[in-house]
Amino acid sequence: MSEPHSAQPLLEISGLKTGFDTYDGKVPAVDGVDLTVHAGKTLCVVGESGCGKSVTARSILRLVDAPGRIEGGTITWHGDDEPFDVLSLNHDDKRLQRLRGGDIGMIFQEPVASLLPLRTVGAQLVEVIRIHTGMDKQAARKRAIELLDEVGIPKPEERVDAYPFQLSGGMCQRVMIAIALCANPSLLIADEPTTALDVTTQARILDLIRRLQAEHHMAVMFITHDLGVVAELADEVAVMYLGKVVERAGVEEIFADPKHPYTRQLLESVPVLGRDRGRDLPTIPGTVPNPLHRPKGCSFHPRCSEAIAGRCDIDEPPEVVFDGGRTAQCVLYDDQTEGDRA
Ligand code: SF4
Repeated sequence: MSEPHSAQPLLEISGLKTGFDTYDGKVPAVDGVDLTVHAGKTLCVVGESGCGKSVTARSILRLVDAPGRIEGGTITWHGDDEPFDVLSLNHDDKRLQRLRGGDIGMIFQEPVASLLPLRTVGAQLVEVIRIHTGMDKQAARKRAIELLDEVGIPKPEERVDAYPFQLSGGMCQRVMIAIALCANPSLLIADEPTTALDVTTQARILDLIRRLQAEHHMAVMFITHDLGVVAELADEVAVMYLGKVVERAGVEEIFADPKHPYTRQLLESVPVLGRDRGRDLPTIPGTVPNPLHRPKGCSFHPRCSEAIAGRCDIDEPPEVVFDGGRTAQCVLYDDQTEGDRA
């Protein structure tokens, strides 16, 4: 499948399926996802809560806990001389251990909860640095202080001995970023890293990620529900709905000419400074359906303002590939629909 970018692929996800076994049945959280992250670029994965974006991110590092299970697809890592499928590796394979925290760094939504409360941030950093670089304790501590400085923590030589509860949420997120960066990863996966932070701290963390990305020439996969963040950070965008990628395109294309009705409705519900003063913003009607009871046909059809009765409620929409490689899963661009309309 073609992609809307010419840089080298670093990570290619194809047909990924991850489900959760529950008492009520299987929840297909990720249902045949195709995504590519290109070297040095930022892919933003966007969608409402429960669309499968975080499960997709966790599947990449095989961090899906039971009752979740990766059921199919491939995740190809191109960072080494020989590309390999992450899903084909045994749990004790050295390549998997090197990916986790080595080639791929990951930061999560709740920085305070992600750090161990009873160990200093320095001890946690030193441990990860030693695992991935083999440095001795003294050199690793020196490197930990450098990293804390690099992510903008004031007085790093003092803060290195602080416990997480002694730091603010923004500082803890900076520590998480330092941990994710300690092995110079080729890819940083950031799963809603600013959601729990106030707006000012959020802006600072985004600036930090942008700066570090430029300095380290890292690729970034940024998971978010915030289209403002997408506009600031993304080179490419994947829009997810109910476990599927419904649109993929370059960031300018998404904002200037969204193809999928879900993307259009998402964009219309975002306020624009100067335009929306005093007017009620449109919202997307209804709620995301329970994935256990996925609607037949296009799963967005009960909420879609452009749904075609007798078509969208029956057939799964095809993935349409446009010139330049952008894609949308929607019958509106299907030849057959064009014929119906002519
Ligand atoms: Fe809307 Fe039909 Fe397109 Fe789904 S396939 S997004 S229901 S127009």
